[in-house]
Amino acid sequence: MKYQSFIGLEVHIHLLTKTKVFCGCRSAFGDEPNTNVCPVCMGYPGVLPALNIEAMRMGCMVAKSLNCSIPEKTWFERKQYFYPDMTKNYQISQFASPLGQKGWVDIEGKGREGVIKKRVRITECHLEEDAGKMIHTGTASLLDYNRAGVSLLEIVTEPDMETGEEAELFIQQLRRTVRYLGVCDGNMEEGSLRADANVSINLPGKGLGKKVEIKNLNSSRFVRLGLEYEIVRQGELLDAGKEVTQETRLWNENRDETAIMRTKENAKDYRFFPEPDLPVFTPDAAFLKSVEEALTELPLKRQRRFEADYGLTEEQADLICEEKAQADYFEAAVKQARSQGLENTDAAGRIANWLLTDIKHILHRDGISASEFGSFKLTPQRLASLLVLIAKGTVSSKNGKQTLEAVLAEDKDPADIIKERGWEQIVDPAKIAGIVQTVFAAEQVTVEELRSLLSGGNPKRANTLRAYLVGKALAATGGRADPKIVGPQVEKLLQP
Ligand code: ADP
Ligand code: ZN
Ligand code: MG
Repeated sequence: MKYQSFIGLEVHIHLLTKTKVFCGCRSAFGDEPNTNVCPVCMGYPGVLPALNIEAMRMGCMVAKSLNCSIPEKTWFERKQYFYPDMTKNYQISQFASPLGQKGWVDIEGKGREGVIKKRVRITECHLEEDAGKMIHTGTASLLDYNRAGVSLLEIVTEPDMETGEEAELFIQQLRRTVRYLGVCDGNMEEGSLRADANVSINLPGKGLGKKVEIKNLNSSRFVRLGLEYEIVRQGELLDAGKEVTQETRLWNENRDETAIMRTKENAKDYRFFPEPDLPVFTPDAAFLKSVEEALTELPLKRQRRFEADYGLTEEQADLICEEKAQADYFEAAVKQARSQGLENTDAAGRIANWLLTDIKHILHRDGISASEFGSFKLTPQRLASLLVLIAKGTVSSKNGKQTLEAVLAEDKDPADIIKERGWEQIVDPAKIAGIVQTVFAAEQVTVEELRSLLSGGNPKRANTLRAYLVGKALAATGGRADPKIVGPQVEKLLQP
């Protein structure tokens, strides 16, 4: 690699507070424009903001999860600039002592050229208010202030990443983390998680280059593509003996390229000064305790624990841990299956398989999202008892799948369904021998041909005939006979 690259991200997340950060207006996406507004978030002169403590708590939860420290005192500043979607001409933000400071996060995952494993330092996390939204029609610009004053947390990283893939992974991991914490829905399309990417390149050992900021990246994939495009573009400039201009560029998702938005950059002067209408916030012991108590095991850690404790593959653990509710469901089901006698990794393997195939298919088919696992009719208890019944041979895995559907349709326990339908597997060898005898009587031609092949005919043909007879015996019991017993019984009866 001729040049070294440096990538730093600025990620904004909408916190899931019920009300806005400095007033009592409802904080919701998609409502009728300008219905969730009041003098405070409309920026009328003389009104007083009041801090939403829930926003501060959620912000601190994220900060803690990113290994940031929470300062003894944190406060707000006014960031001055003019923009039509911001009526006060300043944004209340944090500057000198943000709520989260100097943290780090380890990112881990698969890249095109092998494993990605890297520690990314977090510069800071700060709480601020979002601006309104401008909607440009052909002839006019409309303003919707529903979003003005919505709690926004900005997470800033050091320029520690080097590739578009690393940045993509960082965003994906952060997205999972804030969803696990329940503080943000992570929806990049709707803008509840937005990322700006800063990138510069330089000759190795020369340190940071002149940075370009890329905006309008509304998926983690675009973050990767935008950065990859930009690293190539900057390399070509330097190769040609030119300089990179410090500027802001927009990602154009239709053309897969960045285009210049503005060059200003060097001397941004927001004239920050402390917000005089909000007191300094001093987190007390009770507040810090409430933050600690709201934390949860983070997705990557949980994934690694699932691999180590349950013997799942990396891919299985990754898929199951994608949603916290699904990971919770998995663990609850394993616990139940173990209490009903299955060995730990056997239980985990069976549950993981079902969760990632049949159950996944059903959730998709019935339009149930993984976050609705809490009210899923196939409770962890029911899944566990079904899998135990299969493991014990009480029901075949084929009828087990039908049982699963019936549990969902009728909201009953698997054991009851199996009893009602008479789906218990037939495992009594004598009973199965009787069934095989009946099949032989009806299939005399096949039986004779097979017998004649036994003393040294075409083995392939013999196997086909065997499978045919086993299939007939299974069909005669509606799939209830245990194939592991049917096979040997067929063999036994073939002997003259
Ligand atoms: P600004 O004043 O433009 O906001 P900051 O210094 O606050 O710039 O940094 C914003 C983001 O840009 C951070 O994520 C930081 O890591 C990243 N960054 C800063 N300088 C560079 C650089 N030369 N190359 C790449 N990224 C950078
Ligand atoms: Zn308001
Ligand atoms: Mg900055």
